[in-house]
Amino acid sequence: MSEKRDYYTVLGVAKAASQDDIKRAYRKKALEFHPDRNAGDSSAEEKFKEAAEAYDALSDEQKRARYDQFGHAAFSQSGGFSDGGRFTNIEDIFEAFGDVFGGGGGGLFGELFRGGRRSSRGGPRAGRDLRIVLPLTLEEIDQGVSKEVSIKRAEHCASCGGNGAKPGTSPIACGTCGGAGQVTTSQGFFAMRTACPQCQGAGKTIESPCSDCRGQGRVSRKSDIQLAVPPGVEDGMSLRVGAEGDVGEPGGSRGHLYVIIREKEHKIFQRSGPDLITEVPFSFGQLTLGDRLEIPTLRGKVEMSIPAGTQSGKVFRLRGQGMAGLEGRRRGDQLVRVFIETPVTLTERQEDLLREFEDIESEKSGSKTFFEKIVDYFN
Ligand SMILES: [Zn+2]
Ligand SMILES: [Zn+2]
Repeated sequence: MSEKRDYYTVLGVAKAASQDDIKRAYRKKALEFHPDRNAGDSSAEEKFKEAAEAYDALSDEQKRARYDQFGHAAFSQSGGFSDGGRFTNIEDIFEAFGDVFGGGGGGLFGELFRGGRRSSRGGPRAGRDLRIVLPLTLEEIDQGVSKEVSIKRAEHCASCGGNGAKPGTSPIACGTCGGAGQVTTSQGFFAMRTACPQCQGAGKTIESPCSDCRGQGRVSRKSDIQLAVPPGVEDGMSLRVGAEGDVGEPGGSRGHLYVIIREKEHKIFQRSGPDLITEVPFSFGQLTLGDRLEIPTLRGKVEMSIPAGTQSGKVFRLRGQGMAGLEGRRRGDQLVRVFIETPVTLTERQEDLLREFEDIESEKSGSKTFFEKIVDYFN
């Protein structure tokens, strides 16, 4: 790259831009110059790296302050790249900034890479990333769980060793590009190098394809994968299992496997972040007189007492009885919401007692109207 451009200019934001503006601007540039959308265009790749470098400096308040004060000189001792040349290749940029694109791991970049990436230098294509959904019970999430899942993924074809050529034969250099994988076309004054349309950049063609994989070099096969899910994960989270996706071209890396967590509904508990919510029915008598009873928790039972005169709808907090925290974070609480269960059938004696109770209640409150009682209640 020639003269180094101002980072704010690179991202197209004002000096006073907020972190949100910077993030948004970077996302836009990164998508515009994304290598998957600009195959074989080395100027797009340079712009893509340039934007990442600018974002790296401006998204960190400390680095940004240094840059505002000293310009590029602030980082010059590390050879231009703000972290000592951290982004020497495209993959590093996805590793570093994948989270800009939302979702755990992969995100939009993951989507764009579904086709399998080929490095800008040509060479073997990496395998596709795969996604699976893993339904888990609250109990499993609370404890952390080890699960075996069966996935179908691309593996090297055993017959041809992955090169796609019929056993005993070999792929030959592509006649169109002479094995380079790229062709040069001229458009007016410009000569452009693009991926070879004949071999799609592979540089090779297969004369007699392997019959087992029909020349693909890969076959779909079932594999059992052991997953270790840590305690405290949440619905929608995506865990990346490195290099368990589709196999790449010979010499290329495997794709990743993304495991998306789905929480199964629980009969008793509702989850709210680290907390669990339970609704527990009580009789009018229990709430009025107070009671002590056992409440179910995710890991067993605990004793809980409710004081006399507890109102329906009141929420009690059982500390530390919620879900396990993710990555050693504090365990959540269980929130017990009590409510009155109104009896629907009464014996004659119960009915008599209740009527008598009601009579005394209205004598106690004298001649107050319903509205006055409501006001009293809220005071
Ligand atoms: Zn084969
Ligand atoms: Zn070719």
